[in-house]
Amino acid sequence: MSEHRKVIVIGSGPAGNTAALYTARAGLKPLVLAGFGAGGPPGGQLMLTTEIENFPGFPSGGISGPELMGRMRQQAMDFGAEFKDVDVSRVELKQSPFAIWVDDTQYTADAVIISTGARSRLLGIDGEEKLIARGLHTCATCDGAFYRNKKMIVIGGGDTAMEEATFLTRFGDVNLVHRREEFRASKTMLERARKNPKITWTLNEQPLEYLKRENGTVCGIKARNTKSGQVTDIKADGVFLAIGHIPNTDLFKGQLKMHDNGYLVTGHEAGGPTGHPNTYTSVHGVFACGDVQDHTYRQAITAAGTGCMAAIDAERWLAERE
Ligand code: NDP
Repeated sequence: MSEHRKVIVIGSGPAGNTAALYTARAGLKPLVLAGFGAGGPPGGQLMLTTEIENFPGFPSGGISGPELMGRMRQQAMDFGAEFKDVDVSRVELKQSPFAIWVDDTQYTADAVIISTGARSRLLGIDGEEKLIARGLHTCATCDGAFYRNKKMIVIGGGDTAMEEATFLTRFGDVNLVHRREEFRASKTMLERARKNPKITWTLNEQPLEYLKRENGTVCGIKARNTKSGQVTDIKADGVFLAIGHIPNTDLFKGQLKMHDNGYLVTGHEAGGPTGHPNTYTSVHGVFACGDVQDHTYRQAITAAGTGCMAAIDAERWLAERE
């Protein structure tokens, strides 16, 4: 069984939903294969957050992640986008039309927009997926403001940990917990954090499990000192993980050009048009937007912005071929 579409969007976070809205309004009747994403429900990483206070247009308290994603999806559907909550199992991008499988069902498309996002690396302890947004966080920019005048733990020793720890000192005190004494972070960012009097440093500590309040929310970590072997409770009001992100690009290995860190290469570096930013991947007709191709900004609003770009790129590319 095979169904053909002009445009298929893979992924339904802010990038995919925006790409769906724009391609739907352009009359391209996109099919959105929505289920591939942060390992959670369709809608991507924002389904794992609570209030979003930094998406423009929602004053007086913001909007919840699931509600924003639900609204974006509805808006795209209002213009004719079709959503299927399924995980893509395989793609074949070296043929025309492109082929996409969901188990045994095959779809073909003239253009594909990839918006499969990225997921935060987790420690892999304690069933932690269920603790996210319950005292455990993976994005300081998103959730830091909930910890005004509170104590926070940041786990990690890379640039993200330094950046997030420094950012979080706007709100309260930060205890940076890292498993070694050496840092992967760049010298500049490490120095900047080191000079910050609101950051304390707890080194050589490997987290073992989360400490929890009676209501199940996270209030610290139990960690083992890698030198002495001693196990201690490190308490705080909330814990931020900053141990890296993993782009959801396994599906495209060997088919699309990727950076060493697994993110998709887009724009003129991928063989797209020169002279302006664009969402072309190394296969013409396949476009990528959102966190799957962005390890720098990683914000809902930037993902939505590139989703819009991908839709316009796809629409123009299709029009040129017709
Ligand atoms: P990194 O991979 O650089 O660092 C991850 C950190 O998490 C490491 O210190 C690592 O420890 C630690 N870690 C990983 N797994 C575990 C674990 N299971 N338990 C405890 N600790 C763990 O990721 P980042 O997100 O920090 O950075 C990714 C890329 O993005 C880098 O290239 C970085 O330079 C870039 N970046 C740039 C920024 C900027 O320029 N403004 C801001 C943020 C990121 P260990 O060192 O022991 O392996």
